[in-house]
Amino acid sequence: MRFDRDFRMAIGGALEPGAGTLQVIDPATGMAFAEAPDAGPADLDRAVAAARTAFPGWAATPHAERAALVVALAEALERHADDFAPLLTREQGKPLAEARREVLGLATWLRGAAGMSLPTTIHEDSPARYCETRHVPIGVVAAIAPWNYPLLLAAFKLGPALVTGNCVVLKPSPFTPLTSLKLGELAQTILPPGVLGVVSGGDALGPWLTAHPGIDKIAFTGSTATGKRVMASAAETLKRVTLELGGNDPAIVMHDVDPDRIALDLFWASFGNAGQVCLATKRLYVHAAVYQKVRDALVGYAAGVRVGSGMDPDTQIGPINNHLQYQRLVELIEDCRTNGYRFACGGTVPAGPGYFLPPSIIDNPPEAARIVQDEQFGPILPMMAFTDYDDAVCRANSGPYGLGATIWAGDVAAGQALAERIVSGNVWVNECRPLSPLVPFAGHGQSGLGVENGIEGLLEYTLPRTSSVRRKSGVGQ
Ligand code: NAD
Repeated sequence: MRFDRDFRMAIGGALEPGAGTLQVIDPATGMAFAEAPDAGPADLDRAVAAARTAFPGWAATPHAERAALVVALAEALERHADDFAPLLTREQGKPLAEARREVLGLATWLRGAAGMSLPTTIHEDSPARYCETRHVPIGVVAAIAPWNYPLLLAAFKLGPALVTGNCVVLKPSPFTPLTSLKLGELAQTILPPGVLGVVSGGDALGPWLTAHPGIDKIAFTGSTATGKRVMASAAETLKRVTLELGGNDPAIVMHDVDPDRIALDLFWASFGNAGQVCLATKRLYVHAAVYQKVRDALVGYAAGVRVGSGMDPDTQIGPINNHLQYQRLVELIEDCRTNGYRFACGGTVPAGPGYFLPPSIIDNPPEAARIVQDEQFGPILPMMAFTDYDDAVCRANSGPYGLGATIWAGDVAAGQALAERIVSGNVWVNECRPLSPLVPFAGHGQSGLGVENGIEGLLEYTLPRTSSVRRKSGVGQ
C-alpha cells in the first residue's frame, strides 16, 4: 500500500477514482501536493447502495466477531502509524508527533468501542411473560468529519457505528481527504465489502449525502452553521442525527493559582493544534489578583514556542489548515487592531508562503469584542480580568454554545464548586480536555445534539427494540 499516491475511494470493497479530481493543498506551502477523487452523484449512489447491500449480513454478524474485526483494523492502523502520520501532517498541517498521536488515537478509539457491549433490559421474566428491550443497529450511517482532526473525529463515529452492526459511508473534509481515503483502503483488507465506504469530494458532496434516501443516520462534526443545515436536510426522511458542533469554551483562572505552574497547560489548552480544536480554551477569564502574572507567564512561554512546518521535528505549532480559515483569522487580528485592543504577544501576519500565524494574546479586550464573542478556531486568545466570581460565571455562561469549560484553581474544592455553576457538556478542573472513548462527550446548547463516546455514544448508533412473549395463555388477561 502506497501512502504518497493512488488516493481512491472505497466503494463496495473496490478502490475507485471518482468522477473528477480535487486538489489537496499543503498548508505549510500553500501549494497543491496531491489529488483526491471528487465524487459525483453516481459515485455516492454506488457507495450507499453497497452499504445497504452489506447491512443485513453485517447486522447479523455476532457482536464479538464485529468487534474482533474492528480491533484488527486498529492493529493495522498501529502498524501503519508511521505511514499515516506524514500524510496527515501534509494535508492538515499539525506537527508530525501530533499527527502520529492522532493516528494512534484513531486506533485507541476503535479498540475502545470494540470493548463495550450493549445493555439488554429485561422488564419481566415471569412464568406468565417475558419482556425485554435490546438495541439494534440503525442501518447505513453517513459519517461527516471536519479538517482539524480528520482521523480522530472519524474514529468517534466509526468504532461505535461498526461495532453495533451499522454500515458506514465516511466523508472527510475536502481540505483533508487523503488519510481518510487510505483508512478506507486499509479497511477493505479487513472488513467485508460495503461495510465501510469512503467518499471524497467538494462542497456539493455533503448535502447530497445528508439528503440521500439510502442513509438512515448522520453523525456529523463541524460548525454550528453547517450542523443546522444537516439537521434540516435530515428532516426530509427523518434520519437520526448526532451533531458535534462549534464552541467558544471559557476558562476561569481563580485568584489562588500559581501562574508559573499552570502557564504551560493554559497555553496548550488554547494553542494546541494552532487553536483549531473544538474544545480549545477560546476565552480566558483571569482573576485580577493574578492577571498580570498569568499574562506574563503565557507571553514568556509563547516567546519560546516554535511555529513552522509540521514536517520539521522542532515545530510545536503548524500552519492554519486552509486559506479560508487563515483569512478569517487575519481579519480577526485586523479587527483587534482597528479597535485598538492591545496585543500582549503576536498580532503579526508573516509573509507567505504557507498559512502561518504566531500565537497571539489579546490583553483585556471588552467583553463585546468580536474576538471574545466569536469562535476564532485559531491561535488568537483573548484574556480578560475579573474581580467578582458571579460576574466571571455570568460571562463564561453567556453565548449560544456549551461545549467545554475549564477552571484553574489552587483550592481544588473551590474550583469544583465553581465548575458546578458552568453550563456546559464538559467541565474540567485543573486539567485540559481529558477525552476517552469510554467517557461520554456531548455539547449543550448550540454546541451539539446527542452524544459521542461511552455507552451513551454507542447507543446513538442503535434503536431500542422491545419484544415480549406471553408464556401461558390466558394469564394476565
Ligand atoms: P464545516 O461545518 O465547514 O465542515 C464540516 C464537514 O461538513 C466537512 O466534511 C464539510 O465538507 C461538510 N459539509 C459542509 N457543508 C455541508 C452541508 N451543507 N451538508 C453536509 N455536510 C457539509 O466545519 P469545519 O470548518 O470543517 O470544522 C470547524 C468547525 O467544526 C468548528 O466550528 C469547530 O468548533 C467544529 N468542531 C466541532 C467538534 C466537536 O466535537 N464539537 C470537533 C471539531 C470541530
